[in-house]
Amino acid sequence: MNDESQKEKLRQHFARRVTTQARVVLDTWQKIHSDLKGSSAHRSDFFAATDKLVRYAQRFEMANHAESGTRILDLIRTWPEETTLDDTLSQTLHDAIENLSRSTLRRTDHGNTQPPRQFRRTPVYIALASEDLSGRLVRQLEFFGFRAAAFTDPEKLIEACGLHKPETILMDVNFGGEANAGLSTIEHLQERHDTAIPVIFVSDEDGSIETRLRASRCGGEEFFYPAVDPGQLIEKIETYTYGNTVDPYRVLVLDDSRAQAKYMETVLTKAGMNPHVITDPMQIMHALEEFPPEIIILDMYMPGCTGMEIARVIRQQDKLHSVPIIYLSAEDDVSKQLHAMSLGGDDFLTKPIDPKHLIATIHNRGRRARSLLALMIRDSLTGLYNHTHTLQLLDQEISKAKQKQHPLCFGMIDIDYFKKINDTFGHPIGDRVLRSLSMFLKQRLRKTDHIGRYGGEEFAIILPDTRPSDARNILNEIRERFAELHQPAGERVFNVTFSCGIAQWREENSQALCERADQALYASKDQGRNCVTLAED
Ligand code: GH3
Ligand code: MG
Ligand code: MG
Repeated sequence: MNDESQKEKLRQHFARRVTTQARVVLDTWQKIHSDLKGSSAHRSDFFAATDKLVRYAQRFEMANHAESGTRILDLIRTWPEETTLDDTLSQTLHDAIENLSRSTLRRTDHGNTQPPRQFRRTPVYIALASEDLSGRLVRQLEFFGFRAAAFTDPEKLIEACGLHKPETILMDVNFGGEANAGLSTIEHLQERHDTAIPVIFVSDEDGSIETRLRASRCGGEEFFYPAVDPGQLIEKIETYTYGNTVDPYRVLVLDDSRAQAKYMETVLTKAGMNPHVITDPMQIMHALEEFPPEIIILDMYMPGCTGMEIARVIRQQDKLHSVPIIYLSAEDDVSKQLHAMSLGGDDFLTKPIDPKHLIATIHNRGRRARSLLALMIRDSLTGLYNHTHTLQLLDQEISKAKQKQHPLCFGMIDIDYFKKINDTFGHPIGDRVLRSLSMFLKQRLRKTDHIGRYGGEEFAIILPDTRPSDARNILNEIRERFAELHQPAGERVFNVTFSCGIAQWREENSQALCERADQALYASKDQGRNCVTLAED
């Protein structure tokens, strides 16, 4: 590893410490903000956490964090000890906290040169009739890392949308008081934006086709009648906010002409895709391994072999069975084209290629391939990777770790007393708990980590390039936070804990690694649950 990347790694390492500490500050603030009456009990924790944040941020030269932290610290100093936080100071503090949460990043990806993802900046707006419910939703959403704001007045909502276009609006059909007033507000709002804001409508009174149609025409993606509980709403909000971040398509191009290959690379890059170009057909196996593609573009005629022959070889591998293959050639004989398609191709484009046509074809193929793949490799309840795919990913990560001599950890999570949750609150609430844990994990882990649903209420986590002590700390933090999350069940709320076992990979196969993680998990259960155990080396 060279000096620069070593430095970058260190920088990222420290940056994580600062952002983790920032999250502790945000969480502590949540506790204070949600219960001002009991706020004095948290003052010293809040001060200590912020003080630590400022020290870290100064030491690791993260100016934004240091600045936001110092401002918060100054404000806490004006809050007399053992008193309840007053409303004015609470509002000022809230603004300062907003500022901090804006500079707080999601866990950055190791070795990723792209800028790290921002803590979700785009807000979610809530416009419901019940202020109490709105407040509860905002707090829950903030727990999941969203920025959320509740409104009681249509004018204020419109104003806020003008300042900051939200990711989603959760809207009561009658928001504002009169029948269908909420619908009118949204109709008015959407006129001001080029692209519609996705809206989730709820109604307690009116589920008629007229109202539903009107809602759908002004950007209503969902319509809940009768209105549902907060858990279900948060899940919906999740789908409209995560679904929007489309990763660039990974396109592998094989063309023996250097000029053509270079041209393709430029066109694809410009269209926001992620191309990988090779000119030697004999490099294909290596390229497939190094750069698992979502779409493959093959030249028809090359020295040594044809594109059709390459396609057949590709199709002989199970895991590449559904990757679309697009042929690219000067061949304009339709019967030859059809023959090529029958040998494992999905589409045929003729040279010279029109960039617009190329991009449109890739988009269509890519979108469809992704949705099919999602059905194949994902668990339908949680959207996490299913058992089979999780094990495949583990094998892949083991070979990467071997090659790069990097550490790798594997964790197993099992929800505690899940059967009792089902028995007490019913199976649908049990399902909700499974989804809330999966959302929580997605939100808190890095993009380079893999999360799978291993079985019923068991989850598997693959943490590449992570040392066991770090893995334990991360999972312990997640465990503690998750245990604090309020799980709604009608009028009641309850809390859920999980147990976890982690094993560090030690040159063994995936099966042996899973077994060790499983043993560690059972050690956690044995010790009374709600804890994380590291397998002994
Ligand atoms: P422990 O703390 O020892 O893990 O106890 P537990 O009750 O969590 O474990 P046990 O293995 O006895 O029960 C797991 C339960 O999970 C039994 C099964 O009905 C339930 N379950 C499995 N899959 C699903 C699912 O998809 N949805 C729901 N709601 N329940 C599920
Ligand atoms: Mg179990
Ligand atoms: Mg269990």
